[in-house]
Amino acid sequence: MENSKRLAVLGATGSIGRQTLDIVSRSDGRYNAVVLTAGSRVDELIELASKHRPRLAIIAREDLLPRLRQALQPLGIATAAGTKALAECVEADDIDMVVTATVGYSGLEPTLRAIDTGKDIALANKETLVVAGDLVNSRLGRSKSRIFPVDSEHSAVAQCLAGENHADIYRLLITASGGPFRTWPADRIAKATANDALKHPNWNMGRKITIDSATMLNKAFEIIEAYHLFGVPAERISAVVHPQSIVHSMVEFTDGAVKAQLGLPDMRLPIAYALGENTRFEGAEKHLSLEDYSSLTFEKPDPVRFPCLTLAHLALEKGGNTACIINAANEIAVAAFLEGKITFGDIYPIIEQTLIKTPFISAPVYDDYVATNSEARAHAAEIVKSLLN
Ligand code: NDP
Ligand code: MG
Repeated sequence: MENSKRLAVLGATGSIGRQTLDIVSRSDGRYNAVVLTAGSRVDELIELASKHRPRLAIIAREDLLPRLRQALQPLGIATAAGTKALAECVEADDIDMVVTATVGYSGLEPTLRAIDTGKDIALANKETLVVAGDLVNSRLGRSKSRIFPVDSEHSAVAQCLAGENHADIYRLLITASGGPFRTWPADRIAKATANDALKHPNWNMGRKITIDSATMLNKAFEIIEAYHLFGVPAERISAVVHPQSIVHSMVEFTDGAVKAQLGLPDMRLPIAYALGENTRFEGAEKHLSLEDYSSLTFEKPDPVRFPCLTLAHLALEKGGNTACIINAANEIAVAAFLEGKITFGDIYPIIEQTLIKTPFISAPVYDDYVATNSEARAHAAEIVKSLLN
């Protein structure tokens, strides 16, 4: 189709990646996936590439390239592997928008390259803004590239801000479901298993973000993400627990008005809003019937049972590489938890101790973020090891 928007979908095999491709399929040629990438699920990448017929399919794990090539070469689809190929693929001239749906720190380099080559970005990979939001914003200042948030809370804020003046924003209220342990006592939370933590009440997401939702570090990350996306001071961004996940976030204005965006918890709505550059086309599969809800409730989050929540304001007050350290330590801790090596209650102390061990850098440049990420991961891995003994 002429004027079809050409997408590079990074992390195509994941929860956000697949939902993005679902919108592509239903878009009647409005969107077209020209590049698909994945980490290691090669058979799923082959299946998606066979269906969507991108120009190029890339797998992070280099040992899986022969298998990918063998399956896709007959279809005329080019293949590649490795982190260099994953980062460089976003620069091609035939890409109009990059959908960053990979998980974790690995999203940073492709996002920066997309910005440097002037590509628009539908940003799901919140870790990029958590790790290096200042750097991303300074690169954006020198580029024509724009970021459209995919995260449901940030999409909700963007929808509430449509037609408003930035100067009229009083505060942002980021809603949180509270996760699977919202009503659990602290001692039970500390001993929760991976199975318990993977049972999110309202959203079906990738494993890492599901654990982050259980610790509520995800909400801390979203406060940091909101700070970088919307330029609202940290003290004017707060989290409010809303167990039904119908109100996706709110903006309070200086005149006392509060605007909220509501909808069923279905990521296809915010993904479609981002693909459409903050305009409406397609979206949620089912519409919300508010009459089915006898009540929508809101409560204060509990930083005592969920200490990870406090890390947002710590990171924003200290600035520099603080959030990069928190993210790296968390990635190691979550992986160790999912492998059954540590308890749920170990996650926060691992982050806390990694923060103490990793040197603070007040004005990091790109190489400092790279070094901080490796160093913090090494410290966190040592702490995990010490817990095994
Ligand atoms: P998933 O785990 O479902 O998918 C992650 C994707 O990234 C997969 O395609 C995976 O490939 C790929 N990947 C993993 N590691 C690497 C790597 N080192 N290099 C390249 N690709 C890699 O995650 P989600 O879709 O749940 O989340 C993606 C991002 O979106 C995260 O940052 C998350 O915080 C954010 N987000 C997700 C939401 C959701 O509803 N899922 C909501 C809001 C934000 P493979 O399949 O081969 O492992
Ligand atoms: Mg979210």
